[in-house]
Amino acid sequence: MWASITPIFLQVWANCGHGKLARTRARLTAAHCSKCQRIGLFSSLPSMRRFNQVQRLSRAISHPAADPKSLERRHIARCSWLKYQAVDVLDCTRIPSPPPGAGRPLERCLVDIVRGVRAPASDGLVDIRIDRGRISAITPAESRTTDQALLVMPGLVDSHLHLEKAYLLDRMAADASNLAEAIAFTSALKRDFTAGDILTRARRVLDESLSHGVTHVRCHVEIDDTLGLLAMKTILALKEEYANRVTLNVVAFPQEGIFVQRTTADLMEESMRMGADAVGGIPYNDRDVAEHLDFVFELAARFDKPLDLHIDLSDDPGQLDVLEVIERTRRLEMEGRVSLGHLTSLGSVPVDEARRIAAALAQSRISVITLPVTDAFLNGRADQQAARRGLTPVRLLLEEGVNVAVATNNIQNPFTPFGRGNILDVANLLAVLCHLGSAEDASTIFRMLTSHAASAIGLTSYGLEVGADADFALYNASSARDALLQRERPMEVYKRGRLVAQA
Ligand SMILES: [Zn+2]
Repeated sequence: MWASITPIFLQVWANCGHGKLARTRARLTAAHCSKCQRIGLFSSLPSMRRFNQVQRLSRAISHPAADPKSLERRHIARCSWLKYQAVDVLDCTRIPSPPPGAGRPLERCLVDIVRGVRAPASDGLVDIRIDRGRISAITPAESRTTDQALLVMPGLVDSHLHLEKAYLLDRMAADASNLAEAIAFTSALKRDFTAGDILTRARRVLDESLSHGVTHVRCHVEIDDTLGLLAMKTILALKEEYANRVTLNVVAFPQEGIFVQRTTADLMEESMRMGADAVGGIPYNDRDVAEHLDFVFELAARFDKPLDLHIDLSDDPGQLDVLEVIERTRRLEMEGRVSLGHLTSLGSVPVDEARRIAAALAQSRISVITLPVTDAFLNGRADQQAARRGLTPVRLLLEEGVNVAVATNNIQNPFTPFGRGNILDVANLLAVLCHLGSAEDASTIFRMLTSHAASAIGLTSYGLEVGADADFALYNASSARDALLQRERPMEVYKRGRLVAQA
């Protein structure tokens, strides 16, 4: 019943039994079952023979038609010293044949179990079973070996990112010293953007993000008199291109304002018709805050889409457009469908008043997305002493029950001449700036990168739970705190049960 034996290669981490991990390449053969087209993987793992704890391996899959006695008695990739055992493989039809003599990693294969991983909300190790791209069961692990067990986290969610204006440092004639300059410098650079140029830089961001465990991105895509719909069309095409690796959630974003531009109001509407997922806004960069907010709230209601606004990016306690957002959210019954990026003015407001505003945000189920790299870079610049850190009051918001996420915003451009696509760098900066240094705080920060961020952008079918999409990453770390300290790429990243990135 086994046919079509095909050699493939799999990069694996093996534990020699003395606490060391070694990366090696195993030559595997994939055998298709002629009855059901399932695929089994079999390997002699020749490069592992130097380990003295080689165990007899057993059958790879629990296929009812598979009689192990009738199979070649080869070692099969299932034993305790394999750190993960992606051996039950379905739907390998897309595996490219490796070139002769060259191994390549087993990518884009659908796995149906990941064994013996450490889950953040679980005391022991768990096995995660996957059925057709969704988590079908999470059970205590059959293997109890905790040494070197990988940490599993849901795929990270970068809930606020600008793809088309990333990586502009080498084009900047000068560095921006405030928000107005950042907007002006970037606006000038946009004149030279092309579709190919946007794609190159956006792919670089997404590939880096994915390799660091990000499986979902909300991107704010700029629409204005200069770009027209160029960036929107390009990023919507990119959304299709990356659909099996990173889920893109696209916001129609009027960075240059709406009513100070000739075409932007119409282009916003056209973007929603083209398939944008959310309406963006930036009231602090338009001629009138109320006019701007009325427009974006109406557009969101008309297209039945959520709102995600850049708001109150300053250290001026008198700039509180957030109050008008709260009022409209309640009046228009948009509770749970509004997210706010930056909101840094609130950090300069007297604490009692800030607490009252935070309570109103929580009551209106408005999410706040803190963007610490940009906010710390741009704010507090006029402070000659006791310089403010420039962030929204993260601890206070959390204490009042606000859903707070943390995100990247910009990478290497006038707004933020920093970043390399590792969102854990951003999280680490947040931890430092907000005094979030304990193990419990590290767990909170990971929630701000996962469940809180997912809620902020309206994801459903998300998380390490039965029924959710099997989007997760495996880290060579002992805890959330350890992962945050290391800030290293996860060993593997899975999207709907499919391996999409490896360290
Ligand atoms: Zn932004």
